[in-house]
Amino acid sequence: MNKRDYYDILGVSKDASAAEIKKAYRKMAIKYHPDKNPDNKEAEEMFKEAAEAYEVLSNPDKRSRYDQFGHAGVGSAAGGGFSGGGMSMDDIFSHFGDIFGGHFGFGGGSFGGSPFGGGGGRRRVNRGSNLRVRVRLTLAEMAHGVEKKIKIKKYIPCPECHGTGAEKGSQPTTCPTCHGTGQVTRVTNTFLGQMQTSSTCPQCGGEGHIITKKCTVCQGNGIVKSEEVVTINIPAGVNDGMQLSMSGKGNAAARGGISGDLIVLIEEIPHPDLKRDGNNLLYDLYISFPDAALGTSVDVPTVDGKARIKLPAGTQGGKVLRLKGKGLPDVNGYGKGDILVNVNIWTPRSLSHEEKKILENLKNSANFKPNPTSKDKSYFSRMREFFS
Ligand SMILES: [Zn+2]
Ligand SMILES: [Zn+2]
Repeated sequence: MNKRDYYDILGVSKDASAAEIKKAYRKMAIKYHPDKNPDNKEAEEMFKEAAEAYEVLSNPDKRSRYDQFGHAGVGSAAGGGFSGGGMSMDDIFSHFGDIFGGHFGFGGGSFGGSPFGGGGGRRRVNRGSNLRVRVRLTLAEMAHGVEKKIKIKKYIPCPECHGTGAEKGSQPTTCPTCHGTGQVTRVTNTFLGQMQTSSTCPQCGGEGHIITKKCTVCQGNGIVKSEEVVTINIPAGVNDGMQLSMSGKGNAAARGGISGDLIVLIEEIPHPDLKRDGNNLLYDLYISFPDAALGTSVDVPTVDGKARIKLPAGTQGGKVLRLKGKGLPDVNGYGKGDILVNVNIWTPRSLSHEEKKILENLKNSANFKPNPTSKDKSYFSRMREFFS
């Protein structure tokens, strides 16, 4: 399932300003609004797609993660577990207050959850809090992607009252103070003329309805503490410190609002031999001096096992060998990193009498005098040239 680029969806450039993004989304939302396109699945998909794009690009934090990591950075890359187009109509309509400033009445009705009555009053929609979990992954899991099942403690809708907060058999009733709008309007006379101010309804707290008989299980909150096993599909190529957000998988909101997100923080379990550097893996190889001089074959650890490499006779210490494509995949699917093998020549720390004699015999041989050519340059000297 390949997701479209959020900037493409809204038809804006990567450096579009917040105002441009808002304007583009507003246009799309009007064009594809379900009220204007009844029974048009395609329009509904466009409508949802645009809402999802706007949800990310309108949030500076999410936008920068998207810019860096693509869909994976905002938790929508890996099918199944992630939100994958999973914004509900309620989520979408909850943004409309910001977009249309409350003056834009969509008649409501057709989508029960629309927070807008025709009059422009805005009912408060409760939002569940976000949850954070840490997931520790091996290099192999990061390389291939992995499905993790994690038990988390979280608020879920109360099973007794199905999240309404009202006792079984009773229903929340429309708030008599605000008549369901969640807002109360007060007109005051000032020397400038009449001023109209709106504020949150004090009786219902802005929810638009009140509960006369509270559910005894959740005390009218509509949510209870519970444990849930969440399946997290982690895409290949994630990094230590990366955060994936699964929208709607956090705490449920009081009385039927919008659930929070589950933020998954990726942590790397260090590999005993391989060190990560971006998508490349670094390995320090030690070979004996005779092996370096005579040539040899050695095993190098890889993410999944090992690879055999050949070192030619006369291999120099400091040489870096590259195992192409044996590193980690890019999280956005742009190719794979390499394993860089740094060759070190092991110098014996102690020598027997006999060994000493052999080496002393070799010491003055012309072949043993260092005579590096440009081909033998170490990683260190190449770096020094690069920076000078
Ligand atoms: Zn309840
Ligand atoms: Zn009220």
